[in-house]
Amino acid sequence: YITECLFLKKDVTMSIKVENITKVYGEQKALNTISFSVKSAEIVGFLGPNGAGKSTMMKILTTYINPSEGQVKVNGYDIDSDKKSVQSSVGYLPEHNPLYTDLYVREYLKFNGDVHNVKKQRIEKVIELTGLLPEAHKKIGQLSKGYRQRVGLANAMLHNPDVLILDEPTTGLDPNQLVDIRNLIKNIGKEKTVFLSTHIMQEVEAMCDRVIIINKGEIVADKYLADMRQDQEQIVIVEFDYRVEDTFLLKLPKVSSVKNTQNFIYEITFSTAEDMRSHVFDFANDNALKILQLNQKNASLESLFRELTS
Ligand code: ADP
Ligand code: MG
Repeated sequence: YITECLFLKKDVTMSIKVENITKVYGEQKALNTISFSVKSAEIVGFLGPNGAGKSTMMKILTTYINPSEGQVKVNGYDIDSDKKSVQSSVGYLPEHNPLYTDLYVREYLKFNGDVHNVKKQRIEKVIELTGLLPEAHKKIGQLSKGYRQRVGLANAMLHNPDVLILDEPTTGLDPNQLVDIRNLIKNIGKEKTVFLSTHIMQEVEAMCDRVIIINKGEIVADKYLADMRQDQEQIVIVEFDYRVEDTFLLKLPKVSSVKNTQNFIYEITFSTAEDMRSHVFDFANDNALKILQLNQKNASLESLFRELTS
């Protein structure tokens, strides 16, 4: 009896459970015996280069296509034997977010809401949640790419699913839109399980708790970002108002290497987990240099991604 309870509990806390999934298109193996699980309310980044198999995996999770082999449970429901329950558990933002540009935002969401028997109140709530209120009376075709992406997110959230599958939600957005959509996704992730794909490493750093790296249809890494931040290496990117000799920057504490990437921009690698930005700031100040930009990068995620996908 106790064992049974434990098993039940385990299944419920796992939002997504993928076991030995293989997908073959004709001759090509797009996914090769993939397994992973996602806990509820995690934001997981599914990172991989183009053609790695990300969209294929997402289409399987949303029941759009069937795997060739293996088992998947979403929200505890089997994609094969309990398809309808899976469909009510997931919200999906497809890669190229197909939208009817002639429809008005509210009209479009109402139509899709009807399909899932979504109440009018819920539609208004989702419009508000996704920041669409000022644009809801416009035609989708009139919206910027960032706002179209919000319509796609609103659409995915209409039936209040526990799990959101977002296929490259930030690809092609300009920097301002990018920040807004990232924040929106992070907010959604406070309550929902978010599984999002991207081929851009920085997106994972900006939004995710965990990264699963896929390459050529196989999972090559699965790590929590918090663990990676403990790693004893970091890169600080600094732009000064003036040229500095690399050797001069090597005087910084705990520095392991310096690279002048362009003009007055330098990538400084430190072998410590301590945030070294304040040291760089003091150094600039002591040497009468002005800082035009100062950023920190997770060296381990970057090198891991490069190494695994090169
Ligand atoms: P990603 O989303 O990571 O870019 P995809 O899942 O779209 O990768 O594609 C993985 C591989 O499977 C690619 O080589 C792609 O060309 C192939 N593929 C995807 N969909 C199909 C399909 N419907 N028919 C044949 N091959 C496909
Ligand atoms: Mg894709």
